[in-house]
Amino acid sequence: MKDFLKRTWIEVDSNALEENYKNIRNIVDKNSKIMCVVKADAYGHGAEFLSRLYQNLGADWLAVSNLEEAIQIRKSGIDLPILILGYTQPDMACKLSCYSLTQTVMSLSYAEKLSENALKFSVIVDVHIKIDTGMNRIGLNYQDMSKDRYAIYEIEKICRLKHICASGLYTHFSSSDNKQQKNDYTIWQFNNFQSAIENLKKLHIEFRLKHCSNSGAILNYPSMNMDLVRAGIILYGLLPSSKINARVKFYPAMQWKTIISQIKRIRPGSAISYGGTFCTKQKTIAAAVPVGYADGYPRALSRRAEMIVCGKRAPILGTICMDQLVLDITSISGANKNSIVTILGRDKTEEITVDELSLLSDRINYELICTIGKRVTRFFLKEGQIVEKLNYICPN
Ligand SMILES: *Cc1c(COP(=O)(O)O)cnc(C)c1O
Repeated sequence: MKDFLKRTWIEVDSNALEENYKNIRNIVDKNSKIMCVVKADAYGHGAEFLSRLYQNLGADWLAVSNLEEAIQIRKSGIDLPILILGYTQPDMACKLSCYSLTQTVMSLSYAEKLSENALKFSVIVDVHIKIDTGMNRIGLNYQDMSKDRYAIYEIEKICRLKHICASGLYTHFSSSDNKQQKNDYTIWQFNNFQSAIENLKKLHIEFRLKHCSNSGAILNYPSMNMDLVRAGIILYGLLPSSKINARVKFYPAMQWKTIISQIKRIRPGSAISYGGTFCTKQKTIAAAVPVGYADGYPRALSRRAEMIVCGKRAPILGTICMDQLVLDITSISGANKNSIVTILGRDKTEEITVDELSLLSDRINYELICTIGKRVTRFFLKEGQIVEKLNYICPN
């Protein structure tokens, strides 16, 4: 494990992940199940390791965005139920069933096609029906109780289809990270969901698992836990927005590091990197670092962001390249070739957070972490020791 390419890598702290999971378990109603959302490679952290961790911690469900993500996790030996949040083409019915996956159903016509395909293979596909209560993305529309009543009859029809089994009903909030005193949108969405549930009940249609809460709702609307909550960003120690007041502490699980590959003394008046967009005014000590936008470090951070070297902040000079960039280490003593550079995380008293970098690059924290490149090896640490590594380019 020590023998690895020291270029740029991520250290994932499994103790922080464990703490975050337990904190969620503690604040969520004890009768509600926890679904860990591990889509997009567990928000860039590494889906297989994290799924195994959550399974060992007692999580009830996992959620992913698509069939391939689900199969990857299933093949790695996880036997938790897995919900696919997005669309899967109906002719994949056999795969859905053979990997014991639960598919989201977003319309009657989709449900019919899925059931027809399931019949062809003589299988039954487990599904959760998604109601669109105000996100206006996917799901059966149910926002205006008088105009959208037909959705209830469509759900009734879905439930009668022979080769799908509708075991859950859910909706998704668009603004639960931003609670309002007046005319709160999430409460309106929740009321729409409740109304759909009530109207279905009148037709004697009930679902074992009704769910609506994402991280924002877990923190802002504890009364909306229902049968299950879908925890995403807070698992990874980040908050869904800066407006939110977390009732418990979450610990960022990821640190991103690189090393100094070359140090140079640069004369005043020298242009640094592509386009010569930055010119030194004085004698400058510059450190080249092997990380760039192909690793997911946003090019928009050129001349704006900093990295930490020997516990001090070093500004980025000039343009960020595909695979490299240049730091100003003039005022930093003790830096050498091969010194560790912290891109994200803490070194001595300095810390660079995901939120700092996402703000500077006009992104959101979700976006920054899930776009970290597949060239960046992930190391999983327990009590500070590496327990596993994930190299996407050269596995093994
Ligand atoms: C991504 C996603 C979640 C998790 O969202 P967070 O804000 O990260 O908690 C929950 N539900 C659905 C449907 C999602 O797509």
